[in-house]
Amino acid sequence: MILFKKVEQLQTYIAAQKEKKQKVGFVPTMGALHNGHLSLIQQAKAENDLVVCSIFVNPTQFNDASDLEKYPRTAAKDIQLLTSVSCDVLFMPPVEEVYPKGLDTTLELDFGDLATVMEGKFRPGHFDGMAQVVNRLLNIVLPHNLYMGQKDFQQLTIVRSMLRQLDSEINLVMCPIVREEDGLAMSSRNVRLTPEHRKLALVLSQTLKKAKELIDKKTPEEIQKWAMEELAIADFKPEYFDIIDGITLQAVDDFQGTDFAVACTAVWVGEVRLIDNMVLKS
Ligand code: AMP
Repeated sequence: MILFKKVEQLQTYIAAQKEKKQKVGFVPTMGALHNGHLSLIQQAKAENDLVVCSIFVNPTQFNDASDLEKYPRTAAKDIQLLTSVSCDVLFMPPVEEVYPKGLDTTLELDFGDLATVMEGKFRPGHFDGMAQVVNRLLNIVLPHNLYMGQKDFQQLTIVRSMLRQLDSEINLVMCPIVREEDGLAMSSRNVRLTPEHRKLALVLSQTLKKAKELIDKKTPEEIQKWAMEELAIADFKPEYFDIIDGITLQAVDDFQGTDFAVACTAVWVGEVRLIDNMVLKS
């Protein structure tokens, strides 16, 4: 694996590979890698000639300074893991390479109602920062294929909207959620859970699974109300459990009215905010 920290050197390398007709797959991450991230790399490896992974903890998408500060950083281990799955290139830039002085990287796009619900409601400004960095990284890497996880369902939907609005030819690939044995969705934030919270955190995936079993018996509103109570165990604080249309991200009133229903949730587990989702109907 080749490690680049400078935009220019990375671009020169990728351009040379593209000259040789290499197909480029790109996996943007914030590091603290786990098997979920590695599954994206493996899928990209299977579908491209050259796989580029980036590790960049993007300050503009953190609405909470302490969340940014406490975000786990495990560069040495990340490099080992990426090498173990034969990732070709790692781009690990410092902040000034991504946001150099004098370069306007802001993005004037309107995501409409996609960005006002769920994470948009609870993390103001998050998606603007996320779209800004994904767009900047895409402009640097210029991949053919972009790999993102269903784990961040709303993020993926907003990136899809961004690519459409920019008339981009980049192909967005959605990769399935990788879970721990007990069902907890893998997340870089899981390492911050106390042992007690780690055990109890399986309530997220269990509630999503039970919600799926209930779709023939209850309305979305009834399931939502039930789930918010299920999730409020110990000192857990559920922020939302929304049942939405997977395309518009707007609340589903009845399951007959949509072909694609997804339940999405965010829960404060002590000091750690976890998100998860499950397709209920597709
Ligand atoms: P992050 O480092 O959290 O920004 O995540 C980088 C990419 O990995 C995003 O596209 C995520 O959706 C994806 N990802 C994170 N966790 C998982 C998981 N458990 N399974 C699959 N993909 C994941």
